[in-house]
Amino acid sequence: MGRVNGDAERTSEVDYLIIGAGVCGLHQLHDLLEIGADVRVVDANSGLGGTWYKNRYPGCRFDSESYTYQYSFSEELLQEWDWKERFAAQPETLSYLEHVADKFDLRQHITFDMRLVRAEWSEDDLRWTLTFENGQVIRAKFVLYAMGLLSVPTYPRIPGRGTFRGLETHTFDWPEGYDVTGKRVAVIGTGASGVQVITDIADKVESLSVLQRDANWCAPLGNAPISKEEMQELRERYDEIFAWCRETPAGFIHRPHRTLSTDVTREERLRHWEELYNGQGAGLYMGNYRDCITEPGPNRELSEFVAGKIRERVEDPEVAELLIPKDHGFGTKRVAGESGFYEVFNQPNVELVDLMAHPIHEVTETGIRLDLGSGEFRDLELDVIVYATGFDAVTGPFDRIEIIGTDGVRLKDRWKDGPETCLGVQVSSFPNMFVLVGPQSGSASANFPRGIEDVVNWMTQTALYIEEHGIDRFEGRREAEIAWVEHVREVNSKLLMSQTRSWFNGHNINLERDEKPRVMVYLGGAPRYRRRLTEELENGYPSFLLSSSAVSATLST
Ligand code: NAP
Repeated sequence: MGRVNGDAERTSEVDYLIIGAGVCGLHQLHDLLEIGADVRVVDANSGLGGTWYKNRYPGCRFDSESYTYQYSFSEELLQEWDWKERFAAQPETLSYLEHVADKFDLRQHITFDMRLVRAEWSEDDLRWTLTFENGQVIRAKFVLYAMGLLSVPTYPRIPGRGTFRGLETHTFDWPEGYDVTGKRVAVIGTGASGVQVITDIADKVESLSVLQRDANWCAPLGNAPISKEEMQELRERYDEIFAWCRETPAGFIHRPHRTLSTDVTREERLRHWEELYNGQGAGLYMGNYRDCITEPGPNRELSEFVAGKIRERVEDPEVAELLIPKDHGFGTKRVAGESGFYEVFNQPNVELVDLMAHPIHEVTETGIRLDLGSGEFRDLELDVIVYATGFDAVTGPFDRIEIIGTDGVRLKDRWKDGPETCLGVQVSSFPNMFVLVGPQSGSASANFPRGIEDVVNWMTQTALYIEEHGIDRFEGRREAEIAWVEHVREVNSKLLMSQTRSWFNGHNINLERDEKPRVMVYLGGAPRYRRRLTEELENGYPSFLLSSSAVSATLST
């Protein structure tokens, strides 16, 4: 960048502007620099790392195997980085991303504290004008959104929220280094974030009230340190590991069996599930018989197996029953990896509050008031309230920016009944705007760096094409967009996952509980998505309209 307009010191120009310096934005920046593009990254945060910069709550770690959650673009990087644990905690992952930025000298191309508030397309000069909260303006030929899927936290709409005199925080906004030792804490929500924070703080706090609406399925993570020998062995197998992950549906090391659960005896099934339960990572969820997450019968049997484990691990049978999900089967929502979550409920300082029976009446100055019914209330006296209540996922970051395309059309209006995208990478009427992380993209449901790789590689190849052919306008075709949304809807409908209430289906923004599901993520698997994107590259972008004013011709019609 660096070309500053004389009359407006706060306006600058760039060819490619990436919004977001997280896992995706950093990768894209690296690759566009490699091809010599004029590129810059902006981020609303004060440091890089995206989700790993923000999520500093105790216990935060990923449940993808560390060695699969890393970039594969540099052999040198792969060989020099040691992972300490099978499933790295947030500080380690953030250090890894900082190391990547330093190694490839990326920081000089990133500007922090730049919250985008408005982006407007101009047909006159084929540029986006992007306005930031701090008054800066950037004009860009191409805008690439990499804002993350889970970067807008949802605080529940509870009367009195904000009046509490202690600390009220969302897991995503956890104050750096805040220590809960000896404090009276309530955690609302038992999704993946809630499960982690609850497990981590339970034996440090004076008291812990876990406020649960619906229970979620969890399975043991099997975390452990990685020894030097193990690390060396992994390093030698990286090519094989990445080649394998590229062919699994979600980019994980786990892959569903070709065998159906009904092809084997019950004894064999149970033995296998026992092994998976005691294994590492998401094996029970992603590396199981394939009918376990597509067919109601097999799914019920697997769910009953996991429910049995919960009953064995939780001493109080009533608490165990509350922790067993009744509204969905195992693996039909994202399963949380846990490390002693169920045993927490055997501790005397921990109680599970069933919000279905006793909803929150209000937040008070001193804690939370529960409604016991018949005009009776119970007050929880607290020092800390933690909202582990999830995110306005996938579309939330876009909804918070005024994005205006051709003829004044607003993205918010285009997506008011649910998002529609052309292959998950563009939106018709929004030329030169690329979505690297967003709705209906294969990247959205995959182990992040693996899913991202496909989109970033496609974008880099597309940028090369743009440069070589002097393309100055690139827009998804409406008919291709309609076809893609239909394809995503059809593919997703084959999985039980499409029928559950979770952020995967747009139940993420505290809407009414009967809100119509939306087509948020593509569940067709990373290999199929990659093939679809590759087809576009190989066939000259048939789903897009490309034009170059230099040669005054439409190159692809
Ligand atoms: P989440 O899965 O959406 O869970 C939100 C929790 O808050 C649910 O238990 C939900 O209950 C509850 N909740 C929401 N609104 C509520 C309200 N008004 N009153 C009471 N309870 C309420 O969010 P998350 O746990 O932050 O996880 C989101 C995603 O982040 C995960 O699916 C995963 O992709 C990612 N993540 C990954 C990791 C990891 O890799 N280990 C860790 C954390 C997060 P209901 O179910 O009743 O709505």
